[in-house]
Amino acid sequence: MGEAARAEMLVTARCRGCGHAASFLASDLASVADPALALDRLPFRCRECRLRDCEVNAEEIERDRRPGIVIWRPTRLR
Ligand SMILES: [Zn+2]
Repeated sequence: MGEAARAEMLVTARCRGCGHAASFLASDLASVADPALALDRLPFRCRECRLRDCEVNAEEIERDRRPGIVIWRPTRLR
């Protein structure tokens, strides 16, 4: 988690319940979640169905090829 933040990774969480996906900047997550947590242990909760069962992927951000990803700014992740 801390490493992902340093590398400016894009973290995508996809809900296993309804398929809803949200993307976050790892550096944002590190500021609201425990940086010691592994990425797949982060307490994501689906915005649509409120299920806490998400598949989490991290990838490096390609600044010159931004495929129009909506990045959520987490404010109440804990
Ligand atoms: Zn869902």
